[in-house]
Amino acid sequence: MILSIASGKGGTGKTTVSVNLALSLDRVQLIDCDVEEPNDNIFIKANIENTQDVNVEIPEIDYEKCLSCGKCADFCNFNAIIDLPSGIKVFPGLCHSCGGCKLVCPNDAISWKDKKIGIIRRGTSGGISFFEGILDIGEVRPTPIIKALKYQIRSDIDTILDCPPGTSCSFLETVNGSDFCILVTESTPFGFNDLKIALEALKEMRIPFGVIINRDGIGDDEIELFCKHEMIPILLKIPYNEDIAKLYSKGEVFLDYFPEISGQLVSMFNNIGGREK
Ligand code: SF4
Ligand code: SF4
Repeated sequence: MILSIASGKGGTGKTTVSVNLALSLDRVQLIDCDVEEPNDNIFIKANIENTQDVNVEIPEIDYEKCLSCGKCADFCNFNAIIDLPSGIKVFPGLCHSCGGCKLVCPNDAISWKDKKIGIIRRGTSGGISFFEGILDIGEVRPTPIIKALKYQIRSDIDTILDCPPGTSCSFLETVNGSDFCILVTESTPFGFNDLKIALEALKEMRIPFGVIINRDGIGDDEIELFCKHEMIPILLKIPYNEDIAKLYSKGEVFLDYFPEISGQLVSMFNNIGGREK
């Protein structure tokens, strides 16, 4: 099973659920797809064994061949190639590697060169096969790194994808192809709107989903009533507990201190199709 763990907004406890679930299982892949701010390994403490660059292709102009016709600049929707008085200029940070500029060039003046945008790292922690991606500072395209991470998914063990927060392209890229998605939320109005957007996206993508209410007991019952009304399964409620928050702030997981919640996470995992028995 490929299980993605998401949240409409950051700070609701998505990482807490991902790492505590992974550590509660005997054998699993955990992939931190929050490539702009990966933090699963603060808790997993995996021994990193391998690091690999992630590159994208960007255009390179052969000025000997360039006719300064401007067709490439006209084509590019991202303003990544501009026709300046001084000549055609490429802005690599804006390029989406769509390939269109090369196709429209009448004199074969465009070739490709690699540009590094980040890395993926692999390691192990107990029975967890761990991966994380890190987007280079200043880079704006997380999805190629998420794709490179998802290329590591194995079919012989269950995989947990810790999604980026929010409902942007990187969230959609991560959840695409999942067998199930858990949305972690809290019973406050702050994340309610984003949660609804995420739910709509999952419905469109036909990905089954359920909700975990974290820090249950604070806030109101609006999300719970909404889920009941929409017949969205509430998979688990994790009660608000100051000790859990303190453990998180120290980079520690809660499963050793709250084994009953760890057991509930494993039961939930089995119920939605995981292999752990
Ligand atoms: S590859 Fe696509 S996005 Fe990049 S410069 Fe060419 S047309 Fe623009
Ligand atoms: S389309 Fe080709 S020839 Fe025309 S400006 Fe761009 S690189 Fe130069």
